[in-house]
Amino acid sequence: MKYYSLHKKSPDTSFKNAVIEGLAKDRGIYFPQNITPLPKTFFDTIENYSNEEIAFTAIQQFVGDEIPETILKQIIKETISFDFPVVKIEDNIGTLELFHGPTMAFKDVGARFMSSCLEYFNRDKEEEITVLVATSGDTGGAVANGFLNAKGIKVVILYPSGKVSDIQERQLTTLGNNITALEVDGVFDDCQDMVKTAFLDTEISRTLTSANSINVARWLPQMFYFFFAYKQLKKQHKELVFSVPSGNFGNICAGVMANKLGLPIKHFVAATNINDTVATYLEDGNYTPKPSKATISNAMDVGNPSNFIRIQELFQNDLVALKKKFSSYSFTDEATKKAMKSIFQESSYVADPHGAVGYLGLNAYGLNENEYGVFLETAHPVKFLDVVETTLPVKIEIPEQIKKVIDKEKVAIKISSYEELKDFLNA
Ligand SMILES: *Cc1c(COP(=O)(O)O)cnc(C)c1O
Repeated sequence: MKYYSLHKKSPDTSFKNAVIEGLAKDRGIYFPQNITPLPKTFFDTIENYSNEEIAFTAIQQFVGDEIPETILKQIIKETISFDFPVVKIEDNIGTLELFHGPTMAFKDVGARFMSSCLEYFNRDKEEEITVLVATSGDTGGAVANGFLNAKGIKVVILYPSGKVSDIQERQLTTLGNNITALEVDGVFDDCQDMVKTAFLDTEISRTLTSANSINVARWLPQMFYFFFAYKQLKKQHKELVFSVPSGNFGNICAGVMANKLGLPIKHFVAATNINDTVATYLEDGNYTPKPSKATISNAMDVGNPSNFIRIQELFQNDLVALKKKFSSYSFTDEATKKAMKSIFQESSYVADPHGAVGYLGLNAYGLNENEYGVFLETAHPVKFLDVVETTLPVKIEIPEQIKKVIDKEKVAIKISSYEELKDFLNA
Protein backbone atom coordinates (compact mmCIF):
# COMPACT_ATOMS: atom_id res chain seq x y z
CA MET A 1 0.00 0.00 0.00
CA LYS A 2 1.21 3.48 -0.88
CA TYR A 3 0.67 6.41 1.43
CA TYR A 4 0.58 10.10 0.54
CA SER A 5 1.21 13.13 2.68
CA LEU A 6 -1.87 15.23 3.38
CA HIS A 7 0.18 18.32 2.63
CA LYS A 8 0.73 16.79 -0.82
CA LYS A 9 4.26 18.13 -1.16
CA SER A 10 6.17 14.91 -0.45
CA PRO A 11 6.47 11.85 -2.67
CA ASP A 12 4.20 8.87 -2.01
CA THR A 13 5.76 6.24 0.15
CA SER A 14 5.45 2.65 1.39
CA PHE A 15 3.85 1.46 4.62
CA LYS A 16 7.34 0.72 5.89
CA ASN A 17 8.57 4.24 5.24
CA ALA A 18 5.41 5.80 6.63
CA VAL A 19 5.94 3.85 9.86
CA ILE A 20 9.63 4.72 10.10
CA GLU A 21 9.22 8.39 9.18
CA GLY A 22 6.03 9.04 11.15
CA LEU A 23 5.56 12.44 9.55
CA ALA A 24 6.32 13.18 5.88
CA LYS A 25 9.12 15.61 4.98
CA ASP A 26 6.55 18.31 4.21
CA ARG A 27 5.23 17.86 7.80
CA GLY A 28 2.01 16.35 6.47
CA ILE A 29 0.60 13.19 8.01
CA TYR A 30 0.26 10.08 5.90
CA PHE A 31 -2.93 8.72 4.42
CA PRO A 32 -3.49 5.48 2.47
CA GLN A 33 -3.87 5.90 -1.27
CA ASN A 34 -6.70 3.36 -1.57
CA ILE A 35 -9.40 2.14 0.76
CA THR A 36 -11.10 -0.98 -0.58
CA PRO A 37 -14.35 -1.95 1.17
CA LEU A 38 -14.58 -5.49 2.51
CA PRO A 39 -17.24 -7.85 1.12
CA LYS A 40 -20.71 -7.53 2.64
CA THR A 41 -20.70 -11.26 3.44
CA PHE A 42 -17.85 -10.64 5.86
CA PHE A 43 -20.01 -8.31 7.94
CA ASP A 44 -23.05 -10.56 7.63
CA THR A 45 -21.11 -13.47 9.11
CA ILE A 46 -18.70 -11.61 11.35
CA GLU A 47 -19.69 -13.63 14.43
CA ASN A 48 -18.06 -16.67 12.81
CA TYR A 49 -14.63 -15.06 12.86
CA SER A 50 -12.16 -14.81 15.74
CA ASN A 51 -10.97 -11.37 16.78
CA GLU A 52 -7.59 -12.20 15.26
CA GLU A 53 -9.15 -13.06 11.92
CA ILE A 54 -11.25 -9.90 11.98
CA ALA A 55 -8.26 -7.72 12.79
CA PHE A 56 -6.20 -9.33 10.04
CA THR A 57 -8.99 -8.83 7.49
CA ALA A 58 -9.36 -5.18 8.53
CA ILE A 59 -5.71 -4.18 8.35
CA GLN A 60 -4.18 -6.40 5.70
CA GLN A 61 -4.72 -4.05 2.74
CA PHE A 62 -2.98 -1.21 4.61
CA VAL A 63 0.14 -3.29 5.17
CA GLY A 64 0.06 -5.04 1.80
CA ASP A 65 2.93 -7.42 1.13
CA GLU A 66 5.39 -5.44 3.21
CA ILE A 67 5.02 -7.79 6.16
CA PRO A 68 4.59 -11.51 5.37
CA GLU A 69 1.15 -12.85 6.23
CA THR A 70 2.35 -15.24 8.93
CA ILE A 71 4.32 -12.50 10.66
CA LEU A 72 1.46 -10.01 10.44
CA LYS A 73 -0.85 -12.60 11.99
CA GLN A 74 1.62 -13.16 14.80
CA ILE A 75 1.91 -9.40 15.41
CA ILE A 76 -1.88 -9.12 15.58
CA LYS A 77 -2.12 -12.06 17.93
CA GLU A 78 0.31 -10.45 20.37
CA THR A 79 -1.31 -7.02 19.95
CA ILE A 80 -4.86 -8.03 20.88
CA SER A 81 -4.27 -10.70 23.48
CA PHE A 82 -6.93 -9.34 25.84
CA ASP A 83 -10.69 -8.69 25.91
CA PHE A 84 -12.73 -5.87 24.37
CA PRO A 85 -16.15 -6.36 25.99
CA VAL A 86 -19.23 -4.22 25.44
CA VAL A 87 -20.85 -3.78 28.86
CA LYS A 88 -24.51 -2.85 29.12
CA ILE A 89 -25.21 0.50 30.76
CA GLU A 90 -28.81 1.17 29.75
CA ASP A 91 -31.27 -0.64 27.48
CA ASN A 92 -29.95 1.05 24.39
CA ILE A 93 -26.48 2.08 25.59
CA GLY A 94 -23.35 0.04 26.13
CA THR A 95 -19.74 0.89 26.85
CA LEU A 96 -16.91 -0.66 24.90
CA GLU A 97 -14.19 -1.26 27.46
CA LEU A 98 -10.82 -0.70 25.88
CA PHE A 99 -8.80 -0.83 29.09
CA HIS A 100 -7.99 -4.50 29.51
CA GLY A 101 -4.47 -4.23 28.10
CA PRO A 102 -1.17 -4.01 30.00
CA THR A 103 -1.36 -0.26 30.78
CA MET A 104 -5.17 -0.20 31.00
CA ALA A 105 -5.54 2.37 28.23
CA PHE A 106 -6.83 1.82 24.73
CA LYS A 107 -3.52 3.05 23.37
CA ASP A 108 -1.96 -0.32 24.21
CA VAL A 109 -3.22 -1.75 20.93
CA GLY A 110 -1.69 0.94 18.73
CA ALA A 111 1.54 1.04 20.69
CA ARG A 112 2.06 -2.72 20.59
CA PHE A 113 1.22 -2.98 16.91
CA MET A 114 3.53 -0.14 15.96
CA SER A 115 6.37 -1.44 18.07
CA SER A 116 6.19 -4.86 16.40
CA CYS A 117 6.01 -3.37 12.89
CA LEU A 118 8.98 -1.14 13.57
CA GLU A 119 10.99 -4.00 15.03
CA TYR A 120 10.21 -6.06 11.94
CA PHE A 121 11.19 -3.30 9.52
CA ASN A 122 14.38 -2.66 11.46
CA ARG A 123 15.19 -6.34 11.87
CA ASP A 124 18.61 -5.97 10.25
CA LYS A 125 19.25 -3.10 12.66
CA GLU A 126 20.89 -0.95 10.02
CA GLU A 127 20.72 1.95 12.45
CA GLU A 128 19.12 2.54 15.81
CA ILE A 129 15.73 4.22 15.59
CA THR A 130 14.65 6.70 18.24
CA VAL A 131 10.94 6.95 18.89
CA LEU A 132 10.15 10.46 20.10
CA VAL A 133 6.71 10.94 21.55
CA ALA A 134 4.77 13.62 23.38
CA THR A 135 2.08 12.51 25.79
CA SER A 136 -0.87 14.19 27.46
CA GLY A 137 -1.26 11.15 29.69
CA ASP A 138 -1.83 7.66 28.41
CA THR A 139 0.34 7.58 25.30
CA GLY A 140 3.48 7.63 27.40
CA GLY A 141 2.65 4.56 29.44
CA ALA A 142 1.31 2.58 26.50
CA VAL A 143 4.31 3.43 24.33
CA ALA A 144 6.79 2.74 27.14
CA ASN A 145 5.18 -0.63 27.74
CA GLY A 146 4.68 -1.51 24.08
CA PHE A 147 8.26 -0.66 23.13
CA LEU A 148 10.04 -1.96 26.23
CA ASN A 149 13.07 -4.00 25.14
CA ALA A 150 12.21 -3.63 21.42
CA LYS A 151 15.45 -4.38 19.62
CA GLY A 152 17.22 -1.52 17.87
CA ILE A 153 14.72 1.04 19.19
CA LYS A 154 15.17 3.75 21.82
CA VAL A 155 12.15 5.60 23.18
CA VAL A 156 12.11 9.18 24.45
CA ILE A 157 8.86 10.36 26.02
CA LEU A 158 8.03 14.01 26.73
CA TYR A 159 5.29 14.74 29.24
CA PRO A 160 4.00 17.95 30.84
CA SER A 161 5.14 18.24 34.43
CA GLY A 162 2.28 18.01 36.95
CA LYS A 163 -0.36 17.49 34.25
CA VAL A 164 -0.57 13.71 34.11
CA SER A 165 -1.97 11.53 36.89
CA ASP A 166 0.33 9.85 39.40
CA ILE A 167 -0.25 6.40 37.94
CA GLN A 168 0.25 7.65 34.39
CA GLU A 169 3.51 9.25 35.44
CA ARG A 170 4.74 6.05 37.05
CA GLN A 171 3.85 4.02 33.99
CA LEU A 172 6.11 6.10 31.82
CA THR A 173 8.96 6.88 34.21
CA THR A 174 9.67 3.56 35.90
CA LEU A 175 10.50 1.06 33.16
CA GLY A 176 14.06 2.09 32.35
CA ASN A 177 16.03 0.04 29.80
CA ASN A 178 15.43 1.54 26.35
CA ILE A 179 12.83 4.03 27.68
CA THR A 180 13.69 7.60 28.83
CA ALA A 181 11.15 10.07 30.22
CA LEU A 182 11.63 13.83 29.86
CA GLU A 183 9.56 15.96 32.23
CA VAL A 184 8.74 19.21 30.46
CA ASP A 185 8.05 22.44 32.26
CA GLY A 186 4.95 23.31 30.22
CA VAL A 187 1.67 21.94 28.84
CA PHE A 188 1.06 19.11 26.36
CA ASP A 189 1.14 21.46 23.38
CA ASP A 190 4.67 22.52 24.38
CA CYS A 191 5.71 18.86 24.38
CA GLN A 192 4.08 18.28 21.00
CA ASP A 193 5.70 21.41 19.55
CA MET A 194 9.14 20.30 20.71
CA VAL A 195 8.63 16.91 19.09
CA LYS A 196 7.52 18.51 15.83
CA THR A 197 10.49 20.88 15.87
CA ALA A 198 12.91 18.01 16.47
CA PHE A 199 11.59 16.18 13.41
CA LEU A 200 12.45 19.15 11.22
CA ASP A 201 15.80 19.85 12.81
CA THR A 202 18.56 18.77 10.42
CA GLU A 203 21.12 19.13 13.18
CA ILE A 204 19.73 16.13 15.02
CA SER A 205 21.85 13.18 14.07
CA ARG A 206 19.54 10.33 15.08
CA THR A 207 16.85 8.64 13.02
CA LEU A 208 13.67 9.87 14.68
CA THR A 209 10.15 8.59 14.40
CA SER A 210 6.95 9.40 16.21
CA ALA A 211 4.66 7.09 18.13
CA ASN A 212 1.77 9.53 18.35
CA SER A 213 -1.41 8.64 16.52
CA ILE A 214 -0.07 10.49 13.49
CA ASN A 215 1.94 7.30 12.87
CA VAL A 216 -0.12 5.04 10.62
CA ALA A 217 0.91 1.94 12.58
CA ARG A 218 -0.53 3.41 15.73
CA TRP A 219 -3.61 4.86 14.14
CA LEU A 220 -4.90 2.05 11.92
CA PRO A 221 -5.11 -0.86 14.40
CA GLN A 222 -7.61 1.23 16.36
CA MET A 223 -10.11 0.21 13.69
CA PHE A 224 -10.26 -3.18 15.37
CA TYR A 225 -12.31 -1.89 18.31
CA PHE A 226 -15.23 -0.90 16.13
CA PHE A 227 -15.27 -4.28 14.41
CA PHE A 228 -15.16 -6.09 17.76
CA ALA A 229 -18.04 -3.99 19.08
CA TYR A 230 -20.09 -4.66 15.96
CA LYS A 231 -19.48 -8.40 16.31
CA GLN A 232 -20.94 -8.26 19.82
CA LEU A 233 -23.85 -5.94 19.05
CA LYS A 234 -25.03 -7.20 15.67
CA LYS A 235 -27.71 -9.38 17.26
CA GLN A 236 -29.40 -6.27 18.66
CA HIS A 237 -30.48 -5.41 15.10
CA LYS A 238 -30.13 -1.71 15.76
CA GLU A 239 -28.21 1.01 14.02
CA LEU A 240 -25.00 1.78 15.85
CA VAL A 241 -23.95 5.21 17.05
CA PHE A 242 -20.42 5.48 18.46
CA SER A 243 -19.42 8.21 20.85
CA VAL A 244 -15.65 8.45 21.14
CA PRO A 245 -13.94 10.53 23.84
CA SER A 246 -11.57 12.47 21.62
CA GLY A 247 -8.31 14.38 22.00
CA ASN A 248 -6.11 13.98 18.95
CA PHE A 249 -9.04 12.35 17.10
CA GLY A 250 -7.03 9.27 16.11
CA ASN A 251 -9.39 6.76 17.65
CA ILE A 252 -12.54 8.22 16.12
CA CYS A 253 -10.78 8.62 12.77
CA ALA A 254 -10.03 4.88 12.87
CA GLY A 255 -13.75 4.33 13.43
CA VAL A 256 -14.55 6.36 10.34
CA MET A 257 -12.02 4.23 8.41
CA ALA A 258 -13.76 1.07 9.63
CA ASN A 259 -17.00 2.52 8.33
CA LYS A 260 -15.33 3.22 4.94
CA LEU A 261 -14.41 -0.47 4.87
CA GLY A 262 -18.12 -1.20 5.08
CA LEU A 263 -18.65 -1.63 8.81
CA PRO A 264 -22.26 -0.56 9.43
CA ILE A 265 -22.10 2.49 11.67
CA LYS A 266 -24.81 5.10 11.48
CA HIS A 267 -23.20 8.02 13.21
CA PHE A 268 -20.07 9.17 15.02
CA VAL A 269 -19.95 11.53 17.95
CA ALA A 270 -16.62 13.07 18.89
CA ALA A 271 -17.09 13.88 22.56
CA THR A 272 -14.56 16.31 23.97
CA ASN A 273 -13.86 18.26 27.13
CA ILE A 274 -13.73 22.07 26.87
CA ASN A 275 -10.99 21.77 24.25
CA ASP A 276 -13.63 22.33 21.61
CA THR A 277 -11.76 23.25 18.42
CA VAL A 278 -13.66 20.69 16.31
CA ALA A 279 -17.10 21.27 17.86
CA THR A 280 -16.69 24.97 17.12
CA TYR A 281 -15.57 24.25 13.57
CA LEU A 282 -18.61 22.07 12.86
CA GLU A 283 -20.77 24.90 14.11
CA ASP A 284 -19.29 27.91 12.36
CA GLY A 285 -16.93 26.50 9.72
CA ASN A 286 -13.84 28.16 11.22
CA TYR A 287 -11.06 25.82 12.22
CA THR A 288 -9.10 27.74 14.83
CA PRO A 289 -6.59 25.75 16.88
CA LYS A 290 -6.36 27.00 20.43
CA PRO A 291 -3.88 26.39 23.23
CA SER A 292 -5.02 23.36 25.21
CA LYS A 293 -6.76 23.83 28.54
CA ALA A 294 -6.26 21.48 31.49
CA THR A 295 -9.25 19.33 32.48
CA ILE A 296 -10.04 16.22 34.53
CA SER A 297 -10.06 14.19 31.31
CA ASN A 298 -6.45 15.16 30.68
CA ALA A 299 -5.67 12.60 27.98
CA MET A 300 -7.94 14.71 25.76
CA ASP A 301 -6.45 18.12 26.53
CA VAL A 302 -5.58 18.87 22.91
CA GLY A 303 -6.13 22.24 21.26
CA ASN A 304 -5.20 21.23 17.72
CA PRO A 305 -6.18 17.60 17.08
CA SER A 306 -3.67 16.20 14.59
CA ASN A 307 -5.94 13.55 13.07
CA PHE A 308 -8.86 15.78 12.24
CA ILE A 309 -7.33 16.46 8.83
CA ARG A 310 -7.57 12.71 8.13
CA ILE A 311 -11.26 12.78 8.93
CA GLN A 312 -11.73 15.69 6.55
CA GLU A 313 -9.88 13.72 3.87
CA LEU A 314 -12.19 10.75 4.43
CA PHE A 315 -15.09 13.07 3.64
CA GLN A 316 -13.30 14.68 0.66
CA ASN A 317 -13.20 17.92 2.63
CA ASP A 318 -16.95 18.24 2.28
CA LEU A 319 -18.22 19.84 5.48
CA VAL A 320 -21.88 19.18 4.69
CA ALA A 321 -21.25 15.47 4.10
CA LEU A 322 -19.11 15.32 7.25
CA LYS A 323 -21.82 16.86 9.42
CA LYS A 324 -24.36 14.26 8.29
CA LYS A 325 -22.26 11.45 9.67
CA PHE A 326 -20.24 13.12 12.37
CA SER A 327 -21.03 15.41 15.30
CA SER A 328 -18.89 16.87 18.03
CA TYR A 329 -19.96 18.13 21.43
CA SER A 330 -17.87 19.57 24.22
CA PHE A 331 -18.46 19.24 27.96
CA THR A 332 -17.20 20.94 31.10
CA ASP A 333 -15.56 19.14 34.02
CA GLU A 334 -18.66 19.88 36.06
CA ALA A 335 -20.92 18.13 33.52
CA THR A 336 -18.44 15.25 33.36
CA LYS A 337 -18.55 14.69 37.12
CA LYS A 338 -22.33 14.90 37.07
CA ALA A 339 -22.41 12.23 34.37
CA MET A 340 -20.06 9.98 36.37
CA LYS A 341 -22.49 10.29 39.29
CA SER A 342 -25.61 9.59 37.28
CA ILE A 343 -24.07 6.59 35.48
CA PHE A 344 -23.07 5.22 38.88
CA GLN A 345 -26.50 5.82 40.41
CA GLU A 346 -28.48 4.40 37.49
CA SER A 347 -26.24 1.52 36.47
CA SER A 348 -23.72 0.97 39.30
CA TYR A 349 -21.02 1.46 36.69
CA VAL A 350 -17.83 3.32 37.51
CA ALA A 351 -16.87 5.39 34.48
CA ASP A 352 -13.61 7.27 34.29
CA PRO A 353 -13.82 10.96 33.25
CA HIS A 354 -13.07 10.16 29.58
CA GLY A 355 -15.77 7.50 29.37
CA ALA A 356 -18.19 9.88 31.07
CA VAL A 357 -17.52 12.49 28.38
CA GLY A 358 -18.32 9.77 25.82
CA TYR A 359 -21.59 9.02 27.60
CA LEU A 360 -22.49 12.71 27.53
CA GLY A 361 -21.84 12.68 23.79
CA LEU A 362 -24.58 10.07 23.31
CA ASN A 363 -26.96 12.16 25.42
CA ALA A 364 -26.28 15.24 23.35
CA TYR A 365 -26.79 13.29 20.13
CA GLY A 366 -30.15 11.96 21.31
CA LEU A 367 -30.59 8.29 20.39
CA ASN A 368 -33.87 7.18 18.82
CA GLU A 369 -35.46 3.79 19.48
CA ASN A 370 -33.91 2.18 16.41
CA GLU A 371 -30.43 3.11 17.51
CA TYR A 372 -27.98 1.59 19.95
CA GLY A 373 -25.32 3.88 21.40
CA VAL A 374 -21.81 2.80 22.32
CA PHE A 375 -19.44 5.03 24.22
CA LEU A 376 -15.81 4.00 24.40
CA GLU A 377 -14.29 3.56 27.84
CA THR A 378 -10.76 4.55 26.94
CA ALA A 379 -9.06 4.11 30.32
CA HIS A 380 -9.64 2.18 33.52
CA PRO A 381 -10.99 4.43 36.32
CA VAL A 382 -7.96 3.54 38.46
CA LYS A 383 -5.87 5.72 36.18
CA PHE A 384 -7.83 8.74 37.35
CA LEU A 385 -8.06 7.68 40.96
CA ASP A 386 -8.21 11.17 42.50
CA VAL A 387 -11.11 12.34 40.36
CA VAL A 388 -13.03 9.07 40.53
CA GLU A 389 -12.74 8.59 44.27
CA THR A 390 -13.61 12.19 45.09
CA THR A 391 -16.59 12.14 42.71
CA LEU A 392 -18.08 8.72 43.46
CA PRO A 393 -18.61 6.91 46.78
CA VAL A 394 -16.24 4.11 45.76
CA LYS A 395 -12.84 2.77 46.64
CA ILE A 396 -11.19 1.35 43.57
CA GLU A 397 -9.24 -1.83 43.87
CA ILE A 398 -5.82 -1.53 42.30
CA PRO A 399 -5.52 -4.01 39.41
CA GLU A 400 -2.42 -6.20 39.03
CA GLN A 401 -1.09 -4.26 36.03
CA ILE A 402 -1.00 -1.08 38.11
CA LYS A 403 0.35 -2.64 41.31
CA LYS A 404 3.46 -3.53 39.35
CA VAL A 405 4.44 0.11 38.81
CA ILE A 406 2.98 1.87 41.81
CA ASP A 407 5.94 1.37 44.14
CA LYS A 408 8.64 1.77 41.54
CA GLU A 409 10.80 4.82 41.61
CA LYS A 410 10.19 7.61 39.12
CA VAL A 411 13.17 8.45 36.92
CA ALA A 412 12.77 11.50 34.66
CA ILE A 413 15.00 14.23 33.27
CA LYS A 414 13.58 17.75 33.63
CA ILE A 415 13.74 20.02 30.61
CA SER A 416 12.24 23.42 29.90
CA SER A 417 13.30 24.34 26.37
CA TYR A 418 13.75 22.85 22.94
CA GLU A 419 17.51 23.37 23.20
CA GLU A 420 17.64 21.01 26.13
CA LEU A 421 15.78 18.34 24.17
CA LYS A 422 18.18 18.80 21.28
CA ASP A 423 21.23 18.51 23.53
CA PHE A 424 19.78 15.36 25.01
CA LEU A 425 19.15 13.79 21.62
CA ASN A 426 22.59 14.67 20.31
CA ALA A 427 24.45 13.61 23.43
C1 LIG B 1 -5.56 9.27 24.17
C2 LIG B 1 -6.81 9.17 24.94
C3 LIG B 1 -8.01 9.68 24.44
C4 LIG B 1 -8.07 10.44 23.13
O1 LIG B 1 -7.84 9.63 22.02
P1 LIG B 1 -7.52 10.30 20.61
O2 LIG B 1 -7.28 9.18 19.69
O3 LIG B 1 -6.28 11.14 20.81
O4 LIG B 1 -8.68 11.14 20.25
C5 LIG B 1 -9.15 9.49 25.17
N1 LIG B 1 -9.13 8.86 26.37
C6 LIG B 1 -8.00 8.37 26.88
C7 LIG B 1 -8.04 7.72 28.21
C8 LIG B 1 -6.80 8.50 26.19
O5 LIG B 1 -5.69 8.02 26.71
